[in-house]
Amino acid sequence: MCARFNASQADNYKPAGTGSFFSLANDKDFETVRFMYNNMDDVEAYSVHEVEVNGQTQWVNCLREYDQPVDNCPLCAAGNKLQVKMWVPLYIVKTGEIKIWERGRTFISQLDTASRRFNPLVSGVFDIERQGKKGDQNTTYSLINIDKDDTQLADLPELPEVMGSIVKEFTFEELQNYLQTGTLPGGNDNKPQTRNPATDRRPSTSNEQVTRREVRTRSTGATQPRTDVF
Ligand SMILES: [Zn+2]
Repeated sequence: MCARFNASQADNYKPAGTGSFFSLANDKDFETVRFMYNNMDDVEAYSVHEVEVNGQTQWVNCLREYDQPVDNCPLCAAGNKLQVKMWVPLYIVKTGEIKIWERGRTFISQLDTASRRFNPLVSGVFDIERQGKKGDQNTTYSLINIDKDDTQLADLPELPEVMGSIVKEFTFEELQNYLQTGTLPGGNDNKPQTRNPATDRRPSTSNEQVTRREVRTRSTGATQPRTDVF
């Protein structure tokens, strides 16, 4: 299964309160942003599976750690490809919005390079520039530092949660059931026709504790070709 999770599909899964997804559509498009991290310790990568429920794709948290056997996760055991993803929170300087940028594991080295020059990383202002025409599977993104100031994370809006909103967590039994029936608990929540962007946004979710499972990804040297697609 290789369903593509494009920007318009992504909007269907836009979790309330986390802002919208970031994308640059065309070659040389750019946006001025801050990465909402202090340093690489804040960067979270997730081991996830992409599943389809009611014709819609959804990210599901993998149940096993990288050193555990595949049988610990029904989706791994069934051969569903394990993917490492990051949902990078960006502060859009022009509008003051927070947007979420979905990235693969190769982006970790780009963030690392940037974070070694700015402490905290959020104090750096970057242009993200797209290098690649629409639909080009070899598209890359340049990070060009254009400014630095004293901005702290505390000066910016609250960080959005990924786990529980963009990435859903299910139990072993629920995933086993999905493999047999194609359904997941709460799967109907994602039907686009039930969404109303004007009213779906929650103001703040500070009283909602969502457990994040941090997955430390070991560096692979980033020698593999970039395959992110937009
Ligand atoms: Zn898995």
